[in-house]
Amino acid sequence: MQTDSYRHRGMRRALVNHLREKGIRDERVLAAIGAVPRHFFFEKAFLEQAYQDKAFPIGEGQTISQPYTVAFQSELLQLKPTDKVLEIGTGSGYQCSVLLQITPHVYTIEYNRALYEKALLFFKKYGLKPHAFHGDGSLGLLQHAPYDKIIVTAGAPGVPKALVQQLNVGGCLVIPVGSESSQKMVRITRVEENEFTKEEFTSFKFVPLLGKSGWESERF
Ligand code: SAM
Repeated sequence: MQTDSYRHRGMRRALVNHLREKGIRDERVLAAIGAVPRHFFFEKAFLEQAYQDKAFPIGEGQTISQPYTVAFQSELLQLKPTDKVLEIGTGSGYQCSVLLQITPHVYTIEYNRALYEKALLFFKKYGLKPHAFHGDGSLGLLQHAPYDKIIVTAGAPGVPKALVQQLNVGGCLVIPVGSESSQKMVRITRVEENEFTKEEFTSFKFVPLLGKSGWESERF
C-alpha cells in the first residue's frame, strides 16, 4: 500500500493548476483530480512520472490516460453526483477513480483480462467500489443499461450504435472517433428518445477500441 505524502499532494495541486491553465473549468472534475493519488497507479520506480501531464504504459500494450485527457473527457460528461456512469476501458482504474469522486454509481468494463484482474485488486486494496466487469465494452453493458453518461477511453472507428441506445434521455456519450493515429473527441447527447445531437471537439491520440463495434468489427 502506497502512502499519500505532503509532497504528493503538492504535486497534485500543481497538476490541477496546470489543468486550469489548459482550460479545464469544471470544479467537480478539478477537485476529483486533486483528490485521486495518481502515483498509486504507478510502480515505485516510476513515481516521479505520476504527476506529469502524460500518458504512461500500464502493461499489455495499454496506457493510463494523460491527466488533461481524463479532465477533458470528464468535463464533457457534465457529471452530477446522481449520475449513473459507464466507463469503457477500465485500464489502470485511474479514470474510474476520478469518476467515483463525483458519483458512486460507476460501471466500468475492460476487455483485457489481465488488466481487469489487476484493476479489481487495485479497487479492493484502496476500498473503491465501482461495478467492474470483464468483456467487450464496444457493445456497452446492456444488463445494467440505461446510463446517464458513457465515457469511452479508447479510440473508436465510429460511434457504436449499442452505446447510444444505452443512454437515458438527457444523457450523453463521450467518445474519441477517428483513425488509429488520431481521433476527434465526440459528444453525442440523447435529447429525446429518437433525437440525438453530435458535437466535435479537439483531436487526441488513444489506443484502439477493440471488440465487435471497435477495430475488430467486420468491414470491407
Ligand atoms: N481509462 C483507463 C485509465 O484510466 O487507466 C485508460 C484506458 S487505456 C487508454 C484504454 C483501455 O481500453 C485499455 O485498457 C484497453 O484494454 C481497453 N479496451 C480496448 N477495447 C476495449 C473494449 N472493446 N471493451 C473494453 N475495454 C477495451
